[in-house]
Amino acid sequence: MGKPTGFLEYERETAKVLPPKVRISNFKEFRVPLNKEKQERQGARCMACGVPFCQSGMMLGGMASGCPLHNLVPETNDLVYTGNWEQAYLRLSKTHSFPEFTSRVCPALCEEACTCNLDSEPVSTKENERAIIETAFEEGWVQPRPPKVRTGKSVAVIGSGPSGLAAAQMLNHRGHEVTVFERSDRVGGLLRYGIPNMKLDKSVIDRRIKLMEEEGVHFVTGMNVGVDIKAEELLKKFDRVLLTCGASNPRDIKVPGREAKGIYFAVDFLGRVTKELLDSDFAKAPYELAKGKNVLVIGGGDTGNDCVGTAIRLGAKSVTQLEMMPKPPVKRAEDNPWPQWPKVLKTDYGQQEAIAVFGHDPRIYQTTVKEFVADKNGNVCKAKIMKLKGEKDAATGRLQMVPVEGSEEVIPAELVLIAAGFLGSQKYVTDAFGVAVNARTNVETAAEGYQTSVPRVFAAGDMRRGQSLVVWAIREGREAARAVDESLMGYSNL
Ligand SMILES: Cc1cc2nc3c(=O)[nH]c(=O)nc-3n(C[C@H](O)[C@H](O)[C@H](O)COP(=O)(O)OP(=O)(O)OC[C@H]3O[C@@H](n4cnc5c(N)ncnc54)[C@H](O)[C@@H]3O)c2cc1C
Ligand code: SF4
Repeated sequence: MGKPTGFLEYERETAKVLPPKVRISNFKEFRVPLNKEKQERQGARCMACGVPFCQSGMMLGGMASGCPLHNLVPETNDLVYTGNWEQAYLRLSKTHSFPEFTSRVCPALCEEACTCNLDSEPVSTKENERAIIETAFEEGWVQPRPPKVRTGKSVAVIGSGPSGLAAAQMLNHRGHEVTVFERSDRVGGLLRYGIPNMKLDKSVIDRRIKLMEEEGVHFVTGMNVGVDIKAEELLKKFDRVLLTCGASNPRDIKVPGREAKGIYFAVDFLGRVTKELLDSDFAKAPYELAKGKNVLVIGGGDTGNDCVGTAIRLGAKSVTQLEMMPKPPVKRAEDNPWPQWPKVLKTDYGQQEAIAVFGHDPRIYQTTVKEFVADKNGNVCKAKIMKLKGEKDAATGRLQMVPVEGSEEVIPAELVLIAAGFLGSQKYVTDAFGVAVNARTNVETAAEGYQTSVPRVFAAGDMRRGQSLVVWAIREGREAARAVDESLMGYSNL
């Protein structure tokens, strides 16, 4: 696959990114993809290694390694190398519903597991994927495919994130009548109102939704299932219901002063910024939220990084990002070998921008908030932070982060963004359908399956597996579609 000696002949080359100080002036995507010729050369770096971990999507050391969709990576890389772009698109479409999303936002589990990454630099599979799907759109190969025959069966999909969209697309292609209900004003779930526009331009979602509508999928927005419409009504009207409502319960930081104004959950903040941009056709952004303020982001993960990048674009005076855990190593530790997912330091786009603008990495490790302080108007103005140290729990042997006495420090913070993860599904939806949930409030399903404890009700995506990734949501949506189809038809050809 590819060119056996390609990895020796060609260096890895990826999209050019606009310099941080240039790109922070707007909310646009900032990657400039390679031209076709250069991208084809990158396909050549795939070197017939024989054991393509890149497409395995298996659990190693408790973490996923390789593509969870089992994209046929060596084959598509080869087709890119040989310039067979249409074939590459057809091959990619066998396993993937929306390459235009993952090729922008996926952490590229494929590349970390790439054999070239053992000793050198991985094949640029993610950007090859982007080139394939964008070429397919440009060339007009991505056309609506309405089903030739309708089955007479109907499915309600609740939630329009990547999981619900993937399931809806497949079930509709199969011939079932599919309606997607979304409580928000726009379709897309966290693709729309979580991931910022500079990472995933929202027109990319609109382009796909238009195709799905042309294929016959119905979308109902502004419909909060369990509030605006009862579960029983849906179960009466539809043959099957698939719950893909996400893990939208954010983890709070319950410390004194939490009630102060100016403290937001990350996803509310990010969603508000995107909504104002979209409502004003990118003429307006809520600059007043962050402009001239010291911004404190609690949580050192990817969502925290999105908050850093967004706060900088809104004109923050300073940005500090707190992370409870120790700073990861720059290189893989000995107990974290290839092809496991590497637990190493990653400096993402927001942090790079903070370094460019403020001269230092915004992250402070092994630190948490002890208290928020409000001014006389009730607005947050400071945060008391403290250091943490790792200690082994005597009973479990697990590392616990405990406070370091006397390490408290007060820092200015007029905007606080909590990016501390999500706790699971929302109770009003699971209660409405009466589906069983586990201790983490994720919806319980049959082992290796998607059927919930309630007949005719299925669940998939973050709502089932807990907070995860777009690529996993798509995989779950696709597999759940197959399960729903099988339960409707007695077999499935999906
Ligand atoms: C800020 C942020 C950034 C992220 N960045 C990345 C990234 O870069 N790469 C990556 O791979 N992953 C990223 N993720 C994770 C990824 O977005 C999620 O794993 C993925 O979107 C989950 O898809 P889903 O379809 O299960 O749920 P969601 O995308 O959460 O969609 C669920 C939808 O259901 C709707 N809904 C909920 N309840 C109801 C109801 N009762 N009635 C009607 N509708 C309802 C919600 O409004 C929402 O639109 C990010 C997450 C966040 C929060
Ligand atoms: S979906 Fe993600 S892991 Fe899979 S091939 Fe694409 S970039 Fe790699």
